[in-house]
Amino acid sequence: MPIYEYRCRQCNHIFDAFQKVGEDGAELKCPACATLKPEKLFSSFAAPGSEISEGGYTAGAGCGSHGAFT
Ligand SMILES: [Zn+2]
Repeated sequence: MPIYEYRCRQCNHIFDAFQKVGEDGAELKCPACATLKPEKLFSSFAAPGSEISEGGYTAGAGCGSHGAFT
């Protein structure tokens, strides 16, 4: 079970928590102020757009050069 980092939307307290499969952290509580639904933080703070490549979105983006040859 992976551990994710969350940030409280209320007090900005950052804490680690387990996340069950199929859940989105909505049931998590801030340990400091007990506010629900903390914001999920990702381990990599790279450009958010990099996630698109996981879905094969950019798979055909580079084929344009081949078509120009014919
Ligand atoms: Zn809090």
